Amino acid sequence: MYSKYSQLITSKTLICVRKSLLCKTVPEPSPFQCKRSEKKWHCLKVQTSGFHTTQKLHFHTPVIFCLGSILAGHYLRKRWMSLSPTEQETCIRWYKQRRHIFHGALKILSAFLVIYFATCIKRDPILQAPRFVMFNEAQRVQNAKFLFKVVVQNESNVVPHDNPMYKKAVRVIRKLTNANKEIFKGIDWDVTIIYRIFNIASIPNVLILPDRHIIILADIFNLIKSDDQLTFILAHEMSHEMLYHPSQTLSLGVLSNDVILISTFLIWAFYPARAAAILCSLLYTVHAILFAWLKRSCEREADKVGLQLATKCCIDLREILTFWDIMKMYDDFTGASMFRLPLLNDHPSLDERKNITLQLMPKMNQLRDQIGCPELSLRDPREDLPQYKRELEDELRRNPRFLGMRW
Ligand SMILES: [Zn+2]
Repeated sequence: MYSKYSQLITSKTLICVRKSLLCKTVPEPSPFQCKRSEKKWHCLKVQTSGFHTTQKLHFHTPVIFCLGSILAGHYLRKRWMSLSPTEQETCIRWYKQRRHIFHGALKILSAFLVIYFATCIKRDPILQAPRFVMFNEAQRVQNAKFLFKVVVQNESNVVPHDNPMYKKAVRVIRKLTNANKEIFKGIDWDVTIIYRIFNIASIPNVLILPDRHIIILADIFNLIKSDDQLTFILAHEMSHEMLYHPSQTLSLGVLSNDVILISTFLIWAFYPARAAAILCSLLYTVHAILFAWLKRSCEREADKVGLQLATKCCIDLREILTFWDIMKMYDDFTGASMFRLPLLNDHPSLDERKNITLQLMPKMNQLRDQIGCPELSLRDPREDLPQYKRELEDELRRNPRFLGMRW
């Protein structure tokens, strides 16, 4: 039942599922804020009720707008071509007489847009880097609710709250928030574990929504071999949010879509159909490549910051290298990497991510020493990789649903 799934709020070490379940699930003596949990609980009920209607409306909107701009541009061109040379000349003269008004209006609009975009620049609290965020807190929550519906789809896709996976995730997030109090102070995190993304694909993955809601796909727990590995994965996701990546991606997505729509209209208005089709294809490809590049940059940043946050929990950093190797094995077994085009991939390659970890390890080990973490065990966790490989093979043989699609 969807109405039973957990809402896990961790910065104050709360688990808000239901009042009656709180004390059973969390033995910690932290003060519960049940009014807050009830408010969020109510929110979840609202989300359940609107699943399909909203999603269908929004999914088709960009396609409709894109087709609209193509048709509008094409119609305008056809109309222009159907005019006689005298009529065309009259139109050009009419425009020339009023061009100062058009140019002035364009300048005012441009100035307004520049001022507006300047107000959308926010600095993130960790790296103090400028981020382009068009949404305020209320809009971020609204966007996140919509994305939640799209990703989760329906209540049967949510792992029941009493599953031990929740306990594990909460334990790790609590550890992260305690070790990084200066960064996470006053911030709540929600966790939902689901079986399939979009209720279709069963893949080991974790993602975060712009309202700090972490969505974990249950299959990731088949690959994770220790709490240290989970600590890094969740630290990576939390870094995304602290660096405003989800909001920035959404903002740039909205902005670039508008630019694409206007460009599509102009291309179809000024060029014949064949040339316009080629130019539009080029435009969409360049857009996809640039967006993928932006996302890869965000991933690298989140890896670096996540590594630091996880190190403060005194994890064994070799566990992260082990995790990258497991992911690589998983990719090789499933053939997932064969379908990835480097330029269009929104994540850096696993080799590159492992290299980032390796490069930062000396610095992170220094940090471990500074904060007085215990000595690392003599046994390197990577020694267990052959065993993990056998386990993964067995799992994939036993459970073909692992990376399965269900349409
Ligand atoms: Zn990421």
